[in-house]
Amino acid sequence: MDVYGLIGSPIEHSLSPPMHEAAYEALDLDARYVTLEPTDPVAAVNGADALGIAGLNVTIPYKQAVLEAVEPDAMAQRVGAVNTIDFSGARPTGHNTDVIGVQRAFAHHDVALSDQTAVLVGAGGAGRAVAVALRDAGARLRIHNRTESKAKALAADVDATWGGINDETLATACADADILVNATSVGMESDETPVPAAALHADLTVMDAVYRPLETRLLADATAVGADTIDGAWMLLFQGVAAFEHWTDHTAPVDAMNAALRSRLE
Ligand code: NAP
Repeated sequence: MDVYGLIGSPIEHSLSPPMHEAAYEALDLDARYVTLEPTDPVAAVNGADALGIAGLNVTIPYKQAVLEAVEPDAMAQRVGAVNTIDFSGARPTGHNTDVIGVQRAFAHHDVALSDQTAVLVGAGGAGRAVAVALRDAGARLRIHNRTESKAKALAADVDATWGGINDETLATACADADILVNATSVGMESDETPVPAAALHADLTVMDAVYRPLETRLLADATAVGADTIDGAWMLLFQGVAAFEHWTDHTAPVDAMNAALRSRLE
């Protein structure tokens, strides 16, 4: 039996176990997916390697710390964070599937990114992955963040422009944008939005990284003005799909993984 897992803290509400186990069931694989809450992430990766664990996902707060224990691929180095570790080689290799997760979420919805104008709100861990995803796919990008110095630093890394968060600045940025992504935690288990409804328009595609609830205030406001929306479960799904495909020789059963995920969200 192959054992996969997730390390992070806290992880008790993680949706990765049902999503990955749905894939094992759909493909009749002899595998299990467990959650682990180590205090020392580097020791945990070394221990997992010694134990013959087949693959690990990594979440908050360990995505940077595990870099020390793995050989990061080019994307993980670029983002400065690892969310997927593969133990099949001589040394554990670190990947970042959040970036491809964002790109595949847009592709799944037939939304082109190349030559599009995008606004990203948020410059934390998720914001960094979204920024790299959008720029690598050829979008022009403007990054807004509450702490402006973080927007400025991320913008410098990915060659984007930047600004702060206030209603007027966001409205100006969104006015001629094709794509808007929220990668702040605003709206998570609350009815708040990081972008005022008045800034939204029908020509936007709005993606939210927040997936609890699935329909955030931002996405509800976007739908109300006729914009297209992509909820946060799509990014979560496709980072998991990419991790599964790093670990196995199989094409991920996307529909089964998506159904398992969505049955646990509302
Ligand atoms: P993080 O690194 O802690 O960053 C948090 C971000 O939210 C920062 O940009 C922060 O701004 C901003 N923020 C927090 N409170 C705010 C407020 N009251 N007003 C304005 N901005 C505020 O967290 P993260 O890992 O990037 O996660 C952000 C969100 O994305 C979370 O809801 C998480 O669940 C979600 N997420 C989803 C996926 C997915 O697959 N769908 C993956 C990763 C994360 P400052 O810099 O000013 O503090």
